Amino acid sequence: MKKHNFYAGPSILSPYTIEETAKAVNDFAGTGLSILEISHRSKQFMSVIEEAEALMKELLEIPEGYAVLFLGGGASMQFCMTAFNMLENKAAFLETGTWAKNAIKEAKFFGDAVIVASSADKNFSYIPKGFTIPDDCEYFHYTSNNTIYGTQTYDTPQVKMPLICDMSSDFMSHPIDISKYDVIYAGAQKNLGPAGVTIVIVKESACGRVTRKIPTMLDYKTHISKDSMFNTPPVLPIYSCLMTLRWYKSLGGIKEVEKMNIAKAKVLYDEIDRNKLFVGTAVKEDRSLMNVCFVMNPEYKDLEAEFLDFATTKGIVGIKGHRSVGGFRASIYNAMPIESVNALVESMQEFEKLH
Ligand SMILES: *Cc1c(COP(=O)(O)O)cnc(C)c1O
Repeated sequence: MKKHNFYAGPSILSPYTIEETAKAVNDFAGTGLSILEISHRSKQFMSVIEEAEALMKELLEIPEGYAVLFLGGGASMQFCMTAFNMLENKAAFLETGTWAKNAIKEAKFFGDAVIVASSADKNFSYIPKGFTIPDDCEYFHYTSNNTIYGTQTYDTPQVKMPLICDMSSDFMSHPIDISKYDVIYAGAQKNLGPAGVTIVIVKESACGRVTRKIPTMLDYKTHISKDSMFNTPPVLPIYSCLMTLRWYKSLGGIKEVEKMNIAKAKVLYDEIDRNKLFVGTAVKEDRSLMNVCFVMNPEYKDLEAEFLDFATTKGIVGIKGHRSVGGFRASIYNAMPIESVNALVESMQEFEKLH
């Protein structure tokens, strides 16, 4: 049976990415060797990382003066690295969920992390607005898409200071104005490739401003000066990312990807709002286009496990909600085809008829 993969991360990748990665595992670039067993300094791999960087710059229209890095350690390492490299005294944070809290926790190792607003009062079901940021904050950090709670800050916040953003779960899902940011980071395993590589887009002139000493591996300047090749980078995940980038380009770029994402999310949210069995958990104006969170309508609370089983018989995989929200979460990342969203919607409609 065809599987419809709604996992939150690691998550669905384009068939092109999977097929091309499989080919390279067997024979990489005509070398007669697997990509798993080739030097990261071979000319074949050098051309992979160079193309990945160039293609990302092209697709996201990254301005001059920014470096694109492919690092290990996950987005979680960036919670530490961003503050280590950028926080001298004080920075502002928006607390919109578990990942935001983790970023705040790490920043506190280096300076004052001011929480300017939080949606913890309503289990992170909305994005706080209308907050003020102290003028002496060196940057404003936020999580653009809250993977667990299904909320999203779609437009770039209008603030006076540079932005640092964890874009792990909506990276490359719609165009953004990179020039407003000092650092953007994203674990690849939501929208780009397999787990193991993290993309960091960093403004070069924003590095080197803090006075503390930074260990070599945690210093952005190390990786900028060596083009992500200071040590062995995650070779295979980078290759897969390149395949996804090529796929985005073949679709017509990130504006086209965005159109598809808007259309997919609309189909699913429309059904949640129409279907008597289900209700969405995020406030409507902050609903994520990537992670669609919903629960059983309280009247039908007892049907939760039954719907999960029912959906499973239709090939629907990975829709169990995160334990801190419960219910269901359908992650509909860039690589998710509308056919799979339709399959989920049909299963919701069929299930409604049964009750
Ligand atoms: C998944 C996720 C993370 C954690 O990423 P790791 O690569 O596992 O460290 C951080 N932030 C957001 C928004 C995420 O979705």
